[in-house]
Amino acid sequence: MDGCVQPGLLPVHEALARIIGALKPITVTENIALADSLDRVLAENIIAPINVPGGDNSAMDGYALRHCDARQELNVIGDAFAGHPFSGEIGAGQAVRIMTGGLVPVGADTVVMQENVTRNGNKILINTIPDIGENIRRAGEDIALGSLVLSTGHLLSALDIGLLASLGINRLNVFRRIKIALLTTGDELLAPGAAYHAGKIYDSNRPLLQALLKRLPVEVHDLGIVPDNPHALRTAFLAAQQCADIVISTGGVSVGDADYTKDILAELGEINFWKIAMKPGKPFAFGLLGENESGNALRTTGCWFCGLPGNPVSTAVTYHQLVVPAVRYLAGENPGEPLVIKAIAAKTLKKQPGRLDFQRGIFSANNGINVVSSAGLQSSGVLSGMAKANCYIRVEAERGTVAEGEMVDVILFDRFIR
Ligand code: AMP
Ligand code: MG
Repeated sequence: MDGCVQPGLLPVHEALARIIGALKPITVTENIALADSLDRVLAENIIAPINVPGGDNSAMDGYALRHCDARQELNVIGDAFAGHPFSGEIGAGQAVRIMTGGLVPVGADTVVMQENVTRNGNKILINTIPDIGENIRRAGEDIALGSLVLSTGHLLSALDIGLLASLGINRLNVFRRIKIALLTTGDELLAPGAAYHAGKIYDSNRPLLQALLKRLPVEVHDLGIVPDNPHALRTAFLAAQQCADIVISTGGVSVGDADYTKDILAELGEINFWKIAMKPGKPFAFGLLGENESGNALRTTGCWFCGLPGNPVSTAVTYHQLVVPAVRYLAGENPGEPLVIKAIAAKTLKKQPGRLDFQRGIFSANNGINVVSSAGLQSSGVLSGMAKANCYIRVEAERGTVAEGEMVDVILFDRFIR
């Protein structure tokens, strides 16, 4: 994918492999209510305790009968409503009025919909003969008793919650949430809401990351904006390390940075400063805060550190490409590969060979033809383009400028970046 990268740069897949290789998924579980389980990671296999549906039931409002009697006049001998089964048995020449969801009475093998029946008092005549077994939902056809419904490591969706409810399940074992300490660094940063000063910028990374982290099974400790001074940084990283499994910070990780982040991190842990062959987001720091006396990193009790570049688009893209898979893995999930689709570039896409580009794009399918165009300025500080985008245009490292009409890889924005 990115086999031909600029020398000295780490390919994206290699950076991710190193991160995942270093992490140990948490094993602590908790038992929670189904209603609280959205976006949590299952810590048990769910085996169906019942059949769904529980019994053969009608898919239509109509009449239950023996198929062999369908051509004769039938006697209606009772009702089977949803929740109120017919207690008797259907014999020769008999039918039971049945509503959608009503259990099919003993003896019946077919349901005819009421639109195909002429009723006269307690007698019915069938106008269109159904097939044998028609309009019956079979016991266990949705979920069979004893089948594996969901596996350990599954991130629970709203649909999963509905599915588990259909099995009568109301409590689940899930992995505990990952504790995240979040901070942004920079003397230039102002919290939104503060009065504007010339030379300052509003901190967009922290609100952005706070919002994105809501999609993950995490608990966020917000440590705010930390100024570029050694004392404040040391205090903040030490506090972060106390309360978190992972610290996420932004800013101060570029080469030639005038700030102290790197020195302080080197003092407090074993942090690697990588130059990743991706655009945006070349600088990225990853490692462990906290060391034991022998100088070995505390791999079980230490705190992981992800230092994201400061430019907001770089922050967003490195978060999505590296931090999201890392946190999902740590949280007990096994995130798969993203879905890559092919699209035609509607216009030229500028690119230098050497890094894997994650350009922000707008994807559309016009009469079945996938087309993508740039979502505007591609500079790593320009968040407005990314906010308009609905996908990445992922352009291979070795590739240069993409001409109009050429095919490119598109990855639609998923819920972890929207
Ligand atoms: P740095 O990585 O600290 O050198 O920052 C790179 C660029 O991103 C600089 O222009 C910073 O002003 C900007 N930047 C850093 N942190 C933030 C933030 N939290 N919100 C918005 N822009 C930021
Ligand atoms: Mg900075």
